[in-house]
Amino acid sequence: MSKQYKYSLTEKDIPEAWYNINPDMPVNPAETAWKAVLHPGTKEPATPEFLSVLFPMRFIGEAVSMDRWIEIPEEVREVYKLWRPTPLFRAHRLEKALDTPAHIYYKYEGVSPVGSHKPNTAVPQAFYAKEEGCAGFTTETGAGQWGSAMSMACNFFDLDCHVYMVKVSYQQKPYRRILMENFGASVTPSPSNKTEYGRKLLAQDPDNPGSLGIAISEAVEAAVASQGKYKYSLGSVLGPVLTHQTVIGQEALKQMEMAGEYPDVVIACAGGGSNFAGLAFPFLHQNFTNGKNTRIVAVEPKACPTLTRGKYAFDYGDTAQMAPVVKMYTLGHDFVPPTIHAGGLRYHGMAPHVSALLDHGDIEAVAIDQVDTFEGAAIFSRAEGILPAPESSHAVRAAINEAMKCKEEGTKRVIVFNLSGHGFFDLTSYDAYMKGGLERYEYPVEKIEESLSHLPEISL
Ligand SMILES: *Cc1c(COP(=O)(O)O)cnc(C)c1O
Repeated sequence: MSKQYKYSLTEKDIPEAWYNINPDMPVNPAETAWKAVLHPGTKEPATPEFLSVLFPMRFIGEAVSMDRWIEIPEEVREVYKLWRPTPLFRAHRLEKALDTPAHIYYKYEGVSPVGSHKPNTAVPQAFYAKEEGCAGFTTETGAGQWGSAMSMACNFFDLDCHVYMVKVSYQQKPYRRILMENFGASVTPSPSNKTEYGRKLLAQDPDNPGSLGIAISEAVEAAVASQGKYKYSLGSVLGPVLTHQTVIGQEALKQMEMAGEYPDVVIACAGGGSNFAGLAFPFLHQNFTNGKNTRIVAVEPKACPTLTRGKYAFDYGDTAQMAPVVKMYTLGHDFVPPTIHAGGLRYHGMAPHVSALLDHGDIEAVAIDQVDTFEGAAIFSRAEGILPAPESSHAVRAAINEAMKCKEEGTKRVIVFNLSGHGFFDLTSYDAYMKGGLERYEYPVEKIEESLSHLPEISL
């Protein structure tokens, strides 16, 4: 019997609208998603004026929109056509390797030009800034995934892109910096002497290795100082970013229909929550409105266990307390994550929508150690050929664990996971894994308690 491995759509199947979960949130969005975005100084609800210094107006409009469907501008769909629709694979070879009765499918976002799901939101953000007549963007990047997506998008719309890159990554991972520079971006190691906050940190310690929280602070400061010339872009966490990513799940729904199955379990890794939301929210929509009962699982590293060990509370989005305060699962804004190899999963917080859904019991979360993660990635790549990004490998491992549970129980379940990117720029971490140089690391409880003792006091 001939098997089908790939479910491919055509360009006319690219969704015409994004799915906005605001009207379907099972909790009052005023409590979580948008009215509870607070000014970091006053701790009062942030005004559109404050937010519009940072973000394009159309982006802010999406954050507060209660429209279930938000039309994707034609200019954005044109760029999406460069790589969308992305394929959905049936992992026949992985199923065989695991000898499992489970049916495993994966949506592959690594076919985008920069190798991850991130351009799905970089492109509309760049388009909105262009439309408003801005000169460009400031942004931050950890290992460089978001920076390269934003650099590419700015290049498509003739915008400048100034990227603050976590210094340790800048020094150790030159390839994504080179990719960003190829697209015409300027890349600055953070902390830098370009901002007041960076100068302050460098005066205290000239060898400060940087962190994502610090780089966000510098990018926000630079955008504010430009007085509207440059907007600030964030690659995850915020409502509109999650909304933009829902092209993933909408396509996957169609592709599962082609496959003649419906998922029992949907799995994705979660750093700030955007690729998770992108795949999961359209399936959650089916749970909420169409009588479906799919389990939705977010996977995070044990070294940065925001959803599984953090607190659901108000916290700053960045280390310097300049970014808005939101209610989310957090490990504390001054939490310093260990340098694990899944750099994209090292954020101290989580998207407020994803946090609220977990708190309300609509989704689940699990944490996986990085050694188990790389072991899962090795099993997957040897069966399917694709080398996953270390971030995506968390979803891979969780899907394998689920498939092994099916084997033990002797039940068939349909599993769909998001392969959010490829790992071609992460080969040194695979090298470390293969040489046995990766360590297990679980974040110590005292250190979590310490950073959680610095949360802002909010009375609403
Ligand atoms: C950035 C990144 C992530 C983590 O970000 P989310 O917003 O949680 O999706 C996951 N996978 C890849 C490949 C990434 O580049």
